[in-house]
Amino acid sequence: MQVSVDRDRCCSSGMCVTNAPEVFDQDGRDSLVRLRQAVVTPDQFEDVRLAAELCPGGAITVTGDEPARAGG
Ligand code: SF4
Repeated sequence: MQVSVDRDRCCSSGMCVTNAPEVFDQDGRDSLVRLRQAVVTPDQFEDVRLAAELCPGGAITVTGDEPARAGG
């Protein structure tokens, strides 16, 4: 699973950093989103999915398959 961000749509709310700080960061100069990593691990999936859902700018795109769950 991959994640990408559109900085043109970001409104610097910081919600993504709150939800998934391992994956998202905010630029120190303009507070716009920056990606720490583009490939999402299974452990990070739910946090990243929530971050994309709650992003007020619709700036986060998740692509690829949802990781398989143990026992599922
Ligand atoms: S949640 Fe969306 S709008 Fe807010 S900082 Fe992250 S990418 Fe930008």
